[in-house]
Amino acid sequence: ARYFTINDYPQGTPQPELFELHSTELPGLKDGEVRIRNTWLSVDPYMRGRMSGVTTYVEPFELNTPLEGAAVGEVIESRDQRFKQGDKVRHMGGWRDIAQLDADTLEPLPSIEVPEQAYLGVLGMPGMTAWTGLNKIAEMREGDNVLVSAASGAVGSLAVQLAKAKGGTVVGIAGAPDKLEWLESHGIKAVSYRGKNAQQLSDDLKQACPDGFDVYYENVGGDCLEAALDNLRVGARIAVCGLIADYNATKPSTAPGNLAMILIRRVRMQGFIIFDHWSHYPQFLEEVGPKVANGEIDYEETIEDGLESTPDAFLKLFEGANKGKMLVRL
Ligand code: NDP
Repeated sequence: ARYFTINDYPQGTPQPELFELHSTELPGLKDGEVRIRNTWLSVDPYMRGRMSGVTTYVEPFELNTPLEGAAVGEVIESRDQRFKQGDKVRHMGGWRDIAQLDADTLEPLPSIEVPEQAYLGVLGMPGMTAWTGLNKIAEMREGDNVLVSAASGAVGSLAVQLAKAKGGTVVGIAGAPDKLEWLESHGIKAVSYRGKNAQQLSDDLKQACPDGFDVYYENVGGDCLEAALDNLRVGARIAVCGLIADYNATKPSTAPGNLAMILIRRVRMQGFIIFDHWSHYPQFLEEVGPKVANGEIDYEETIEDGLESTPDAFLKLFEGANKGKMLVRL
């Protein structure tokens, strides 16, 4: 079996040399263990936090120990009666080709007819995050104007479509031209942040939605947050899902200069971590799953091939090289 480790807790943007690929002979299975051939690996922005060496809402990765992450694969050997050869499962033994895990940590794939890797994206943790942030944290209401940052990514691309289905004006912030096109093709007004300061971005948001936003779904922070704060309506709600603009920062970020807007516009701003809401996953699947299966909800994937490409796929998240969910296919 082959797996990746990191050899340090990096400052700033991680370099490819941080990641080391190892090979090992796996021991025989113990009672209650299952061996899985991974077919798809997920790389996610939150993994950067686990590389910082400090405990956030989750423990840091241990150095020189196999990295973890969501993965989908097929059972090839089992010493647990709940799983048999050929079963498709989701688990946290990613960053490796063969995973050997305690059966208690495996989940059978749900039975909705979608490609299996969708359970790492639109119908997995990122999709669940979009749905939860919009409905349960921002408490989006029918007709609300909604702004989403990193709007064409794994989380953002579902958030904008869910918002569009029951909203007024939906605006997405994204980087590259093909991402803006994808948003526009789904009826979402697209605004690029590239090459703009917060004031310019704020002006563009005002033009896209002159009445202002009732909800801001925050994936980025930095200038996006500052520009959003200028454009909120009284009583707006901000769901703080992620702050990716800060994940590689070497200095603590500063508060936006217009933080007073939270007071002036009586804004509620709430962070959330999706693990705390996982009990709603069946409800999410029931509501969103059929719409993904019948094509009513669209999703994009950016796929890198081969285990060796996993660090690269991960690092590309911070360059905006992915449209939709970033995945590694084994
Ligand atoms: P994405 O698929 O959205 O990939 C990351 C995207 O972020 C990039 O494609 C890029 O898009 C954008 N981006 C990267 N760096 C910057 C930057 N410096 N400034 C502006 N945009 C940037 O990832 P996910 O959908 O998986 O995650 C989106 C956010 O949600 C992240 O912040 C993540 O940490 C958070 N999250 C939080 C969870 C929770 O429980 N709270 C759970 C899951 C995700 P572009 O080209 O548009 O710049």
